[in-house]
Parts: sequence; structure tokens; C-alpha cells
Amino acid sequence: MKKYVYMFSEGNGQMRELLGGKGANLAEMTGLGMPVPQGFTITTEACTRYYEDGKTIYPDIEEQIMEFLDRLEKMTGKALGNPDSPLLVSVRSGARASMPGMMDTILNLGMNDGVCEAVAKLTNNPRFARDSYRRFIQMFSDVVMELPKSSFEQFIDEVKDKKGVKHDNELDADDMAQLVEMFKAHYKKSLGEDFPQDPKKQLMESIRAVFRSWDNPRANTYRRMNDIPHSWGTAVNVQSMVFGNMGETSGTGVAFTRNPATGEKKLYGEFLMNAQGEDVVAGIRTPQPISTLQDIMPEVYEQFVDISSRLEQHYGDMQDMEFTIENGKLYMLQTRNGKRTAQAALKVAVDLVDEGLCTREQAIMKVEPKQLDALLHPTFVRAALDAATPVTTGLPASPGAACGKVYFTAQDAVQAHKVGEKVVLVRQETSPEDIDGMASAEGVMTARGGMTSHAAVVARGMGTCCVAGCNEIRVSEADKTITIGDTVIREGEYISLDGSTGNVYLGQIATQEAELTGDFGRFMGWADEIRTLHVRTNGDTPRDATQARKFGAEGIGLCRTEHMFFETDRIKAVREMIVSETTEQRKKALAKILPMQRGDFEAIYRAMGGLPVTIRLLDPPLHEFLPQEEADIRELAADMGLTYEKLEDVVHDLHEFNPMLGTRGCRLAILYPEIAEMQTEAIISAAINVWKQDGLKITPEIMVPLVSDIKELRFVKKRIKSVADRLIEEAGINMKYMVGTMIETPRAAVTAGEIAEEAEFFSFGTNDLTQMTYGFSRDDIGKILERYFEEKILESDPFARLDQDGVGKLVKMAVDAGRETRPSIKLGICGEHGGDLSSVEFCHNVGLNYVSCSPFRVPIARLAAAQAAVKNPR
Ligand code: ADP
Ligand code: MG
Ligand code: MG
Repeated sequence: MKKYVYMFSEGNGQMRELLGGKGANLAEMTGLGMPVPQGFTITTEACTRYYEDGKTIYPDIEEQIMEFLDRLEKMTGKALGNPDSPLLVSVRSGARASMPGMMDTILNLGMNDGVCEAVAKLTNNPRFARDSYRRFIQMFSDVVMELPKSSFEQFIDEVKDKKGVKHDNELDADDMAQLVEMFKAHYKKSLGEDFPQDPKKQLMESIRAVFRSWDNPRANTYRRMNDIPHSWGTAVNVQSMVFGNMGETSGTGVAFTRNPATGEKKLYGEFLMNAQGEDVVAGIRTPQPISTLQDIMPEVYEQFVDISSRLEQHYGDMQDMEFTIENGKLYMLQTRNGKRTAQAALKVAVDLVDEGLCTREQAIMKVEPKQLDALLHPTFVRAALDAATPVTTGLPASPGAACGKVYFTAQDAVQAHKVGEKVVLVRQETSPEDIDGMASAEGVMTARGGMTSHAAVVARGMGTCCVAGCNEIRVSEADKTITIGDTVIREGEYISLDGSTGNVYLGQIATQEAELTGDFGRFMGWADEIRTLHVRTNGDTPRDATQARKFGAEGIGLCRTEHMFFETDRIKAVREMIVSETTEQRKKALAKILPMQRGDFEAIYRAMGGLPVTIRLLDPPLHEFLPQEEADIRELAADMGLTYEKLEDVVHDLHEFNPMLGTRGCRLAILYPEIAEMQTEAIISAAINVWKQDGLKITPEIMVPLVSDIKELRFVKKRIKSVADRLIEEAGINMKYMVGTMIETPRAAVTAGEIAEEAEFFSFGTNDLTQMTYGFSRDDIGKILERYFEEKILESDPFARLDQDGVGKLVKMAVDAGRETRPSIKLGICGEHGGDLSSVEFCHNVGLNYVSCSPFRVPIARLAAAQAAVKNPR
């Protein structure tokens, strides 16, 4: 029979897929002889079966779980529910990729009325026993029964108020006994049944709940944001408990081997004495910095420092660890490669190479390409910042500069973001329900919680600026206000957050561009050495071009010419051209546009300093250029000396039912060859001017859009050639140029072998190709997508991540056929996919020469290309 359960001592760190990250690392630490409370892991395959079997745990798996429980009981000499020697366990979820805070943990499982009293006697610590029991009731209710943890908080407040104390560690054994009774009563009242006393039932229910939580909306959102497939499943770890809440020689904490905000090589963390599990991250009390543990328990501190550095050496990466001290004895509860800010990620990667702990190739893999984004965005302008006075200060939980309007709930933040506002999400403290709101915000501010609080961890992961634990502020969600002393900030008012200092300012503070040298420069240099895929940018203006070159673009893969037509001073000439009745009239109108386009291209060539530039001929549907409202039509008609009726007719004639499938792309050039000729003249004569004036030897690349038949390309290419050849001959220079096409209709992909006879390059326009392959309208897919995600028909937006099974197959087909016809053909991709990680990897794997993406995605694509090369050398 298939093995679904492993003791920690049977596994190892390589078994992530099966045991999940947490389980694999617990096994690895066990193997390294570190103090780990023992337990077993139920595999991710058991989770997959749970879903295959209609959300049930089949008896064969349950039997194995019971067998391993038995082994754990023998190993520890304790047993679940046995009052003489009770075993208590935690039930912890752990997927392959860490999903912090997404899945819930249950501690102290095995507690019931009898066990609680037994533990009280055995430990001679009734307060501890009852505290553990009431926590268990709370967690079990929350995770298994969906009776929220927060619904119990009122009872704690009630007891504290009655006693006149502030913190829960001031409650004594009798208070705890009272709480246990209140909690059980609340459970019964809310759920209509008694709190379950049978520990085995508690265990199976909890395991089922972990499996179930894999499919909760939060987990699904997180997975989609992080490219984690639903099919992976989560493992469940059942681990014997150790207790940090046994008194003043016990405690619990979390620590990083290096500073996760800056990357500084120094043990970094927090702990709380006399506390359990989640107290540190939940921000119940303000924790102490790890360095003070040295004074409180020097030997434990020494041992912990030793274990941390061994773990870091062993994994060759910065570790994020959880530990508990029970009556002066240290236990390790978790280790994983630590989440870190982008800045820290670069510093750690570079330092690890310098320290000889990893190779450049390994270092490249340690930075998530998406994270680089945080480094590319502005910071506050120094002078503006110095001139401003903070209204309050919190913890610098995730760096960056954020400026936006204040919103108090995740929903409001999402809403405001949707209508284009910049948002700062302000919460008492965040919880996993807030994840969408955090993703929509420029920055996050919380009133409570430490550096390892939920808000801090998630914000760092997202690269979003976060200031946590602003103790002085009072957040009222009900009134939608923040109160700081006499100052009241209301919903919709601006504040600015500095995630690097923790300072919070009223109003808006000016921001400035990012710094691209230092660690960033060195690290990206390594990425460039390793990658084989080139990275170009999509850019329509000299400003885009300059920005992208700063970010390391090696050329322009897509320069769209339509925006040049839309500019206010040009649109008249464009409209004139469209309504012209004769070719002569049309040429006259185009002659007005020509010098403007030539000037644009010259500026772009100059900004790119001789790097290749691909310019696409006019693409959008013609009617987009015409006015639609009656008033506008009248005005234009008057301007052009036409009657209103005449112009109305023209506009009417140009109307199409499916403009995206209408008169656009090369079809325009075929209907009106003068447009393509004028554009060719602008492209070539600009290159000649720059060649002569600046000595930049440019090879312009002219791209014909939306081709689906080689005859279309032949037609347009002939017009291009006649203009280009004449101009070059007249200029008397040896300038080359290329004519290529976009592959963006399924027919073009299927007949790419033929098309390559004429095309000197292909650029895959995967936006249109996806649109036409699926038959999804990219502008209207929103509603459909939501439903498709729910039903898992799609796990990602095919316009954001290339659909490798369908669209990708067409690309691969066209690549192979194109190369066969013309081995020297240049192959690239332009469109949203050029900056998406898995899509870049796909492009590397099918052997494209370059990807092209928007300027801010260029560094991300460079790193993604390097990672693809490490994974799949070619
Ligand atoms: P998460 O993945 O959200 O961090 P964990 O499974 O790591 O969840 O557990 C949450 C908290 O409970 C952590 O602080 C962890 O250290 C603590 N914890 C988990 N298992 C045990 C155990 N066996 N003994 C003591 N504390 C535990
Ligand atoms: Mg944990
Ligand atoms: Mg297109």
C-alpha cells in the first residue's frame, strides 16, 4: 500500500514535494541532530487524494495516520488523552512553497477536561494547563468549525476588565479556569454541540480542516499571485508540543539569520517570555529583540546562535526560524529560507557569494525577479522628506515610499484602487483576509504588531511599503478615522509612509527615482553573464527608451506608432487623411505627418544609442481616429470645410461590429498603402539622419502587424522596399534595414514556415494571439475570469501568463517552422508576457532570441532569463 505518512526521522530536506516545506525541513533538522519535537508528516499526496475522494479521508489513510500516532506515542512515552502521561500535539499545514499565514495551525491538540486537570497536576502549573486548553478551544473552533477566534476575545476582555488588568499574562489559574468554561459555553451555544472530548476525533477533524483550508479563498488568491498550482496540495505535520507558556523560564520566538529588511549579517528576531506559538506574530504583547535573550538565558542564546549559523551554512541561504524554550530547554520548530525585502535579497545574495557560501548561479536563484520591482520605484525626495515632520512613527517593516489616500478596510482599498486611486491601507493589524487590500495598496500601516507580524511579512513578500506597530495611533474602522493626539485623519485624506524609517507623514511628499548601482549593479551583471535570452523593451517615446536603457534594455522590441498619430496637434492631419477621397488628397495630409514622425524616430534612435529598434506600422482600427459624438463631428467638418452630412457618412462607413477583427494591422496598409509608405519614409530617413549626424549605424527593423497570409506581407513589403531602397540609394550610405512581421493570428503561426520566406524576423504578439486562440476578448474577460478561477477552469489569466499548452504550442510550432525556412531568422516576443516569469522561462526554452517588455519589467525579465538559463542551460 502507498505510504502516506512519514516520521520526521524518515524524511529529509529534499522531500519538499511530498512532505511540504515545513515537513521536509523539520525532517532535515532532525537528521542534523537538532532539538526538534518529534512528529510525523501526512503527505501532499494524501491531500490530493482527499480532493479526489470527494473531500474525505479514506480509511486506508486514516489507518496509516493512527499507526504513526502510535509510533509517536511509543517514541515520546506519552499518549493522546492519557491522563497519566498525556501527549499534546500541534497540527500544522505546510505546502511545498511556503504560504505564510495562509493556512492555520492548531496547538495543544489532545486537551480535554480530564487531560487539562492531569496536566495541571503533572506540571504543578494549573494556570499553564488551562491557558493551553482555552487556546486549543479557540484555535480548534476557528480552524475546524469556522467559529472565529475573535468571537472569543470578548470573554478575555471581560475577565481582564473585571480584574482590572491589562495583559493576558496577568491572569491567574482561576481566571483561566473561568475562561475555559466561558469558551466551552460559547462553543456549545454557537455550534449546538459540546466541545469534542475525544482526542482522536479532534485530530482527524483538524487534519481534514487543514486539507480543506488548501481550497479557501485566501489560499487561492495567494496561490494565484505566486504561481502556485492548485494541484500541489498541502502536507500536514503532527508534532508533539513543547511549551513556551510554562512560566518565566519558557518563551517563544522567531529569528532570521540576517536582517530581512536590510540584509545586514546579524541575527535578527524577537521573542516573548511565557508565551505560546502565535503570540509573537499576532502582536498580543510587544516582543523583545533576540539580543536580550543573551542576558536572560546566556546558554540557550549560545546554543541558538550556533544552530542558526549551522542552518545557514547547511542551506546556503538566510534562514527564518521559529523556536520555543520550555523550562530552559531550546527546541527548533521551523526553519525555511527567509522572506526578505528586495534590498535585503540583493545584499544577501551578493554577500553569500563573497563569503563563499554559494556560487553566482545559486545566488541568482535566491532573488525573486518580481521583487526587483520594489527597487525600481521611487523613494522620497530627500529635501522634501527633511522638510516634513512625521506625525508618528512605527516599525520600518517593509521599505519603500508610499503616498496615497487612507482607507480602512481591504474592500474599500480594492475599490479605490480599481478606480485609479493611490491607496494606503490602514488597519489595527492585518490578517490573511486583508491580502487583496494589501495587494491594491501603495503602502500598509498598522497600529499593532511587530517586525514579524502578518502585515510585515506579507508586505515584504509583495514588495509593498509597510509601517507596522504605530503604537500612538488609534484606528477606528467604524468612524473611518485615525487619531494621533489631536490630529484626526479621515478616509480619503493623503498620508505618506516611509517604510525604511517607519515615519508617517500627513499629506503628499515628493518621490524620486531609484538607485541602480551597488549590489543591484553587481547582481544584475551576474544575471547578464548567465542569461542567453536578450531583453528588449516596448517603448513608444524617447522617455520610455531612456528609462528602459537605464534598466538594461538591449533594444526596442516594439515601438508603436499609433500614439504619435493621436497627439492633439496631429490628429487633424490624420483625420484629413482618413476622409480624403483621392490618393492625392491623402498624400497631402500624410505629408504633414511625415516630419513629425521622422522627428519622433530620430529622438528614439538617439535615446537608444544605436541599439536595435523595431518599429511597428500603424495597427489600430481606423475608426478610432474619428470623432464619435455629433458635436465633435460638426466641429471637425467645419475645420475641414466639409458638410456635416459628408463627414457623418464617412464615420458611419468606418463603423465595424468587431473592430478588433476589422480594418487594422496590415489590412490598413493594404487599403491605404500611402500610410505604410509615409511611415517607411519616416523610419528610414530618420535613421539616415541619425547615421549622418550622430554616426549611429542603425539597422531599422520594420514590423508589419496582424499578418495572417504571406501574400499580405508580400504586398506590404514591396511598398516598404520601394521607398526604403530609393531613400538609401539617394543617401549614398550602406545602411541595412529589415522587414519582419508579428505572429499574432493563429493562421500566421500555422503558416509561419511560408511567412518566413518574406519575414526576416518574427515577433510574437501574444496578446492578440491569445485573444484569437482562445477567442477571449481581452477587454471583456474580467467577469469570465473570476468564475473560471473559482471553478479552476483557469488558474491564471492567460493574458498575464502565457498559456503554454495552447498558445505556447502555436509559438513553438512557428519557431520551428520559421527557423527551418530561414535559419538566421530573429525571434522575439512582445506583449504583456515578455515580463512574466514563467513566460520568460518558456521563451528561453523554445529558443527565442529576445523578449520585449515594458521598461519597468526589463530588470525582472533579465533576472528571469538568467534563472531560466540556470535551470535549463543551452
Ligand atoms: P505558520 O506556518 O503560520 O508559521 P506554524 O505551523 O509554524 O504556522 O505554527 C504557528 C505557531 O505555532 C508558530 O509560532 C510555531 O512555532 C508554533 N508551534 C507549532 N507547532 C508547535 C509545537 N509542536 N510546539 C510548540 N509550538 C508550536
Ligand atoms: Mg511558522
Ligand atoms: Mg496586435
